Amino acid sequence: MADTEKKTEAALLKEKLAAKKPSGALSLDGETIAKADEFCEGYKTFMKSSKVEREAVRTAEKLALDNGFVKYEQGAQYKPGDRVYVVNRGKNIGLAVIGKNGTKNGVRLVIAHIDSPRLDLKPNPVYEAADLALFKTHYYGGIKKYQWTAIPLALHGRIVRLDGECIDVCVGEDEGDPCFVVSDLLPHLDREQATKPMAKAIAGENLNVLIGSRPFNQDKESEQVKLNILNILFEKYGITESDFLSAELDLVPAFPPRDIGFDRSLIGAYGHDDKVCAYPGVMAAIEAKEPDSTVITFLCDKEEIGSDGNTGMQSTFLNTFIEDLAEADGMKLRHVLARSMCLSADVNAAFDPTYASAFEERNSSYLNGGVIITKYTGAGGKYDTSDASAEYMGRIRRMLEDKKILWQTGELGKVDGGGGGTIAKYVANYNVDVVDLGVPVLSMHAPFEVVTKVDVYMAYLAFAAFFEM
Ligand code: MN
Ligand code: MN
Repeated sequence: MADTEKKTEAALLKEKLAAKKPSGALSLDGETIAKADEFCEGYKTFMKSSKVEREAVRTAEKLALDNGFVKYEQGAQYKPGDRVYVVNRGKNIGLAVIGKNGTKNGVRLVIAHIDSPRLDLKPNPVYEAADLALFKTHYYGGIKKYQWTAIPLALHGRIVRLDGECIDVCVGEDEGDPCFVVSDLLPHLDREQATKPMAKAIAGENLNVLIGSRPFNQDKESEQVKLNILNILFEKYGITESDFLSAELDLVPAFPPRDIGFDRSLIGAYGHDDKVCAYPGVMAAIEAKEPDSTVITFLCDKEEIGSDGNTGMQSTFLNTFIEDLAEADGMKLRHVLARSMCLSADVNAAFDPTYASAFEERNSSYLNGGVIITKYTGAGGKYDTSDASAEYMGRIRRMLEDKKILWQTGELGKVDGGGGGTIAKYVANYNVDVVDLGVPVLSMHAPFEVVTKVDVYMAYLAFAAFFEM
């Protein structure tokens, strides 16, 4: 009390009226930080086996099965507390826990994406030049191309042979595996390249991946190095060159997630965007026991290239599943959607002191500041976005405050500095209340992105609290 008496009138008024700056990790006790560290051990394990969407679906499915979820059966009757999951084409998974009220008051949706920027193989990828064998690639999502040269790359994906056999490929992750690399020009000879703008220094067509250098034998045949690679692939997978046409093969950084910093407070990994929201979403669904309304964590694909296609959020897959749940309750889909609430669980750019001028510091998210609520994304005057309503922002803010979850709000960088989008606008178009809520990330879309353990844990707490709404 003595302290208060000393405060000036202005200081007291400020205390009452001015917004308090979030205190970040300073406000957390040792116990919470220890819980965050422990939660992130699970996250790192998830990341190791989830670099591309098919793998993330398989990892999430295993977690679901280990925690009492069963495959959803259309037409079956479910009771509160039942746990079901659906998989779409191996690239989406939805985990649902049936609520006491089922879908009558809408559903609670946490939607994260499990695709991340990378280099995809072209349909005719293999070629030989200067006695080297290489892959042609077509990059997927927004990358800074120079970041993808001269780093170890692993090959992930699936090949479907002409005989219909599906072959899953993962080369470059085990220590004994070979890996692959995109070459770059040495600094001694880059005088022309070095004068180009950054976006043009590495051409998309130059993201060619080195895959071999030895000839098959000493016969006088052309393209012996390429032939040798085709032979190795035939012996290992039974595939021929034309089987690349029916394949989805992606090159991703070959390194595993690692703790960052002497204090181990951060995690560096490929694909935090958006597995860093997917994993907490899955864990929140697993922890949901008997929620009031049915809760669904949905992991989607193709977000990084516009959410198009039958595994992107513009597909009707999720709505069809919700419709099935609605019909079982004697409800119509449109009425369920109108009463539903969604967290578009996606990352935002954390303020980077090294690139401070790209941000507006009063409206940025900060590492260790907790989950970031992004009211709208878009670009060019809020174009191409869902701008969450004041009412919905109010509900989510109240939820976070009630549960004492560390949270912050911000935009994606400064006005007209660039822009971006999430799946929020597609969900909003179905007449669902939605806002972006996720983890702040440093070096977003780089081969090695950075998050803090505290922020990852706060995402989990936020999704778990949301599932109780
Ligand atoms: Mn994202
Ligand atoms: Mn992204």
